[in-house]
Order: sequence, then structure tokens, then C-alpha cells
Amino acid sequence: MPINKNANMRLNFATLSAVDLKELLLTSDATIHTNLLQAARLKALKHFQNKIYIRGLIEFTNYCKNDCYYCGIRCSNTKAERYRLTKEEILACCRNGYELGFRTFVLQGGEDAYFSDKAMIAIISAIKTAHPDCAITLSIGERSLSSYKAMFAAGADRYLLRHETVTPSHYALLHPPTLSLANRLNCLENLKKIGYQVGTGFMVGSPFQTIDNLIEDLLFIRRFNPQMIGIGPFIPHHDTPFRDKNSGTLQQTLRLIAMLRLMLPKALIPATTALGTIDPCGREQGILAGANVVMPNLSPVMVRSKYSLYDNKICTGEEAAECINCLKERIRKIGYEIVVDRGDYRA
Ligand code: SAH
Repeated sequence: MPINKNANMRLNFATLSAVDLKELLLTSDATIHTNLLQAARLKALKHFQNKIYIRGLIEFTNYCKNDCYYCGIRCSNTKAERYRLTKEEILACCRNGYELGFRTFVLQGGEDAYFSDKAMIAIISAIKTAHPDCAITLSIGERSLSSYKAMFAAGADRYLLRHETVTPSHYALLHPPTLSLANRLNCLENLKKIGYQVGTGFMVGSPFQTIDNLIEDLLFIRRFNPQMIGIGPFIPHHDTPFRDKNSGTLQQTLRLIAMLRLMLPKALIPATTALGTIDPCGREQGILAGANVVMPNLSPVMVRSKYSLYDNKICTGEEAAECINCLKERIRKIGYEIVVDRGDYRA
């Protein structure tokens, strides 16, 4: 089906074929691009009004046993200065975040065996005791079914685990042979089965990514129907094998955010830090393309620059309060507002 310039808003993204998705993703027609972003913005406004949900990101460990070729905290990066936050430090981040209006805390880290199930359960329970009205999101990679169950039982509500790419041959170009797409997908299924609100996603413009890979990713996300979708541009890190690769582009990321918003109208979609890193107004543009979440950093300033997945990450020098005030103002300027709310998925 040829996509005409004005048809975007009438296209049914719940059923749109791979061929049509590809045509939309490839078009160099500026009008179609603009219409697509606008249709996505209107879709988000319809479901969420001008409300933007905030999640406080706590990067609590940069130790990682994995060796993903794209990531700055991969285990073979001997230049990374490793750190772990204590339970008390994590709780202090939450207290600070709570005062600033955060009602979701995202605990993100490398795959660090130090944080056993027992350690995670102690942290999750302590946060829930101190802040029973808050949601806890985990983003700590692949773990066993029993581990996911135990952390859910302790009070974790949500889990972010990007699938990264759903094409096995592409997955193998981004990861060492110890990691498999099959296990990644199995983890996602387990998380969903247990009852977590689940987020998945991928990097835009990751090395060796083709348009067909991206179409497969879109189709996978539509099928999997996650509550949250995180996508952001790939950005090289100077101490990784991908140091000389190009970053993903702003426009392709925006177009994909828009397509995902139209496919899954109620999903929670962040305008990511990586998007804000490749363009000074990247996050604002993400919101204007259908994103409805931002995830400011609550980590202590002392460790911010050590949690370095890619180069030039923004907001590494500011206190959480400065970050949230800056973001509030940016968001207000484009006609949106940050709300104090857990911002749960509503079917
Ligand atoms: N260890 C956890 C958290 C990973 S960090 C896990 O495995 O899920 C969160 C996300 O950052 C990753 O899923 C990846 O998509 C993204 N990321 C890693 N390196 C990046 C890079 N160089 N550029 C952009 N995004 C990157």
C-alpha cells in the first residue's frame, strides 16, 4: 500500500504490515515525517494529556560480568572505575527523590553478582517500607526465574530489559557468545508471566543494524506488547570495540518513537538520556514525537560520570534537584508538565 502524505493518522498501526512499516521508516518525504510525529504526539495527548511521568534513576553499580561490545561498563573495560552504592546510599537517593516528587525509583546496574537475591530483597523491602506509595523498577539484566520471582515478591513492580535486537545474527554482532537472544527473550517472558510491568526496547543505529532488523524489532514489540518501551540512539564509548562507530540519529530515533507510540498508544515511552545526549533538545523532541516519560538521574554526583555506558552523557555534574528543575522548565516550555504520580500502565 503506498503511504500518501496525509494518510499517517488514518493508518492502523495495530495491523500495519512489515512492508508498510518499512516504507514509513525509509521515506525521505519531510511531510510524511512531520505528519507521523504529529500523529504520535496527538495520540499521546489523547491518552495522557500533557502529563509527563518521571522516574528517578539510581545507577547503583557499574560492576558487570558481561562484555557487550557497545557498553562502556563491559567487564573488559579495565579503565572503568568501578563502584557500588550501599543500601543506605540507595535509600538516601530515594529520600532525596521522594522530596523532589518522584514516586518511581529505577534501580539500574551492570550484572553484578555482589547484588545477590538476598541483597536485592533487602534493598527492595527497605525502599518499600520507607516509601510504600512508590513503585520500584529494576534494570539489572538477566537473572533466573526464581530470582525474578523473589524480587517481585519483595515488592519490585516493574522491570526494564531491552531485547536490544530481535535478529539473532545481529544480536551475535553486538554481544559475546556467552549471551544469547534466546535467553534474553526467555527472561522477558518470565518477567511478564510473574506479573511485572515489563519494558523492552533497543538502540537506534547500533552497529550493523539494518532497516530490516528495525522492522523486526517493531514487529516484536507489537507482538510482545510491553507496558514500557525504551529506545535511544546508540552512542559510541571510547573504551569499547565500537569506539569508531557512528551514533544513531535524532530523526530516526524520533521517527521510531512516533511509530511505537502509534503501535502501542498506552505504552510508557521515555525520552531517554541518550536522546538528550545527541541533541541539546533531544528529550523535548522525543516528547513532541509521542514519548511521555523522562528519567532524571538520582545517583550521587560522585558516581555519575563512572556510570558511563557511552560518551558525553548529559547531567553528570548536577545534583538531582538541579536536574529536575531544569527538566521541569524545559518541559513547561513545550507545553507539558511533570506530575507527581507513580505513572502505572493503564490498560
Ligand atoms: N545491565 C542492564 C542495564 C543495562 S544499561 C541490562 O542488561 O539490562 C541500559 C541500556 O543502555 C542497555 O539495555 C542498552 O540498550 C543501553 N546502552 C548500553 N550501551 C549503550 C551505548 N553505547 N549507547 C546507547 N545506549 C547504550
